[in-house]
Amino acid sequence: MKILKISTILSLILLSSVVVANDQIVSVYSSRNEELIRPVFEAFTKKTGIKVIHSTNEDAAIIQKLKAEGKTTPADLIITVDAGNLWHAAREDLLTPISSTTLDHNIPAHLRDPGHKWFGMSVRARTIVYNKDKIKSADLTTYEDLADPKWKGKLCLRTSKKVYNQSLVAMLIAEHGHDKAQSIVKGWVGNLATDVFSNDTLVLKAIAEGKCQVGIVNTYYYGRLLRESPNLPLALFWPNQKNTGVHVNVSGAGITKFAKHPENAKALLEWMSTPEAQNLFADVNLEYPANPEVQAAEEVGRWGTFKPSTMNLSQAGALQSEAIKLMDVVGYR
Ligand code: FE
Repeated sequence: MKILKISTILSLILLSSVVVANDQIVSVYSSRNEELIRPVFEAFTKKTGIKVIHSTNEDAAIIQKLKAEGKTTPADLIITVDAGNLWHAAREDLLTPISSTTLDHNIPAHLRDPGHKWFGMSVRARTIVYNKDKIKSADLTTYEDLADPKWKGKLCLRTSKKVYNQSLVAMLIAEHGHDKAQSIVKGWVGNLATDVFSNDTLVLKAIAEGKCQVGIVNTYYYGRLLRESPNLPLALFWPNQKNTGVHVNVSGAGITKFAKHPENAKALLEWMSTPEAQNLFADVNLEYPANPEVQAAEEVGRWGTFKPSTMNLSQAGALQSEAIKLMDVVGYR
């Protein structure tokens, strides 16, 4: 009897220690580059003692996996690029709303879901880039102006299949309405110097080689390419400074609907929004911190400051299918 009691007590102690150990973890599905995200998680573990178990996958695969796993998912938090992806995860009912005064304070309203299911953690600017041997910054004004026939045969674009351009066009629809957005995109297509490219780096290289004079890219690709080849004749231009601002998007995160460690996931998300973590998260990819109290890395700061669009990024998701149809109609491949 006494022996039985001792063993019961022992197993209870063992069980509770397992529970405690389990409680000190958070599981993350992330589409961020493995090398880049690991220092963020390591710093969080050092700070809180909560271990981060993470796996890396493409954005679409993360959403598919989460859907397939349903209630059995081990994932507490997902981290993806582009608000369009986060919006889809929320619409598929894969995320849970988060009530956090810390997040509401640290992340501006236009960079988070009005339903509180996802929060932008870093900002990427999709702006105009040009060949400074061919044109001057004074020749440029807005995204809309790139539809003007004066740019015929001078524009390079990435494929419309990439979510970055789908989000850009979705935001144009949100700003101008469908018909005006369609005539702008049609103008772009009419001005193309070459077939569309599969990625932003190829757009940058084509402009540097003089195949075209101007294009639209995410600034971190510009930063990466110039680290490799600092003498390329490329420069960034901040369009729409007198009206809507530069098109921005986010890398962001949300807590899964069936999270087993929602409190730890919330702690990680809140910590990622703090100044301490913001630079770690944004700087590694040459992005901008989402928290406006945090300065961009020095290298990024050298590209100058700009007025960003403050239209809520949930529009990028809500209008994505309309944007895809619009681009198809005008022959943007
Ligand atoms: Fe990218």
